[in-house]
Amino acid sequence: MSPKAVQATIDALCERVLSYDVNADSNLIRKAYQFAKDAHEGQKRATGEPYITHPLAASMYLAEMRMPAPIIIAGLLHDVPEDTSRTLEDIEAEFGEDVSNMVAGITKLGKIKYRGMERYIENLRKMFLAMAADVRVVFIKFADRLHNLETLDAIPPKKQYRIALESLEIYAPIANRLGMGEMKGRLEDAAFRYVLPKEYAWVKEIAASGRAEREEYLDRVMKKTESVLADAGLKDIEVQGRSKHLYSLYRKLLRNERNIARVYDLTAVRVIVDSLADCYAALGIIHAEWTPLKGRIKDYIAQPKPNGYRSLHTTVFCEDGEIVEFQIRTKEMHAMNEYGIAAHWSYDEAGKVKVGASSKSKPPEWVRELAEIQREMEDRKTYIKSLEDLKIDVFKDRIFVFTPQGDVIDLPEDSTAVDFAYAIHTDIGNTCIGAKVNDEVATVDRVLKNGDMVEIMVDKSRKGPNPDWAAFVKTRHAKSNIRQTAKSKISDWIKGMLPGTK
Ligand code: MN
Repeated sequence: MSPKAVQATIDALCERVLSYDVNADSNLIRKAYQFAKDAHEGQKRATGEPYITHPLAASMYLAEMRMPAPIIIAGLLHDVPEDTSRTLEDIEAEFGEDVSNMVAGITKLGKIKYRGMERYIENLRKMFLAMAADVRVVFIKFADRLHNLETLDAIPPKKQYRIALESLEIYAPIANRLGMGEMKGRLEDAAFRYVLPKEYAWVKEIAASGRAEREEYLDRVMKKTESVLADAGLKDIEVQGRSKHLYSLYRKLLRNERNIARVYDLTAVRVIVDSLADCYAALGIIHAEWTPLKGRIKDYIAQPKPNGYRSLHTTVFCEDGEIVEFQIRTKEMHAMNEYGIAAHWSYDEAGKVKVGASSKSKPPEWVRELAEIQREMEDRKTYIKSLEDLKIDVFKDRIFVFTPQGDVIDLPEDSTAVDFAYAIHTDIGNTCIGAKVNDEVATVDRVLKNGDMVEIMVDKSRKGPNPDWAAFVKTRHAKSNIRQTAKSKISDWIKGMLPGTK
């Protein structure tokens, strides 16, 4: 069950971070909290609570994913530049470039307005752009979105639906593809009740009926499992009970004629062991104790799911002949299953950053992951032909540039302000006289970079493009327009010289 929005405190947050990273700079976390609190002073959430409750809750979710302090700090500050008088420069001065870059990434992601299918694509692109630049930004975005979903009651129904639908269609699938099972489940459950209220009520009732008995029973099974495994000599075992997330239960019910009796993993027992060998040993011990159902043993260790999920699953006739699913995995597999790609950034039990988890580096499989997400998205929405533009090689030689309204324009590398102007509209290209890049005035031949925000200045009285622009533009569209106009100008001029023509 996903808990309701937590009422986090800064003390609880610091305590949580220190619990997995003894060396975390909790003073800096407190400083970020105070900075955000002062900046948001007087602002209220739609719920009526002081604004600071929101970034605090978001950072608490990040701490639950065992994220390092800089991500926690960026989480606390994530709404500051957008909503307050304090700027990114202020943040950089106080907390350094790494934190301010993450906050800048979130700010850009925030400028999406979801309207129809085109917005859907742009929204996706923006997420991909953010991921390609620094995937930590996406973790913060998930935490931000999760808290917004859990406090959605306070806003108008139409907006509720939009935000919830976007979470189901964009955020949850991306979390899933990144292997972040826990985040995916929480996002889906929080969105579910707003997108499909009747279905939600139905599933909730199914899950609630007999819950007390089921929990009591599961408790008994867990104790028995512990003792059976310990008796067989397995050490360092952890046995947990787990209820299926509501939305995933709903999907499963749809696949099984809405018949709850056919859903065997409504609750499951998780066995977390020390080593790979212990996984198979535990499987054997469990099968010796309880008879497995035929065809229900799945080895996702030998053959991981496409999103990297690894575990052994088996369903057995358990105590009193009840059917129970067991999931067996090592600690490391468990962390990867719950936090996915985020586990690369999280801390292990000893408080050390995991191997290969430098604060900013992308995991080596990143490019592959991205390609897979994109493929899955295409499966889901094959009717969106434009999604083909999301092919991975797009990121190699394409840049994504924003309009001040948050629209994304993708251009070939080394494109200029003129290319951008033509990409928006031929008229804008023909009449452009200058640009603002990230709020700074720039010339029209300015080469744009990934993530730039560009505003084009036009002079409506201008007759057409400067033919010299053809020398530096990169897009075919801009080039042909410039040539076209230049040609017609010359031919007009020649025609004007000839007698008897006009
Ligand atoms: Mn926010």
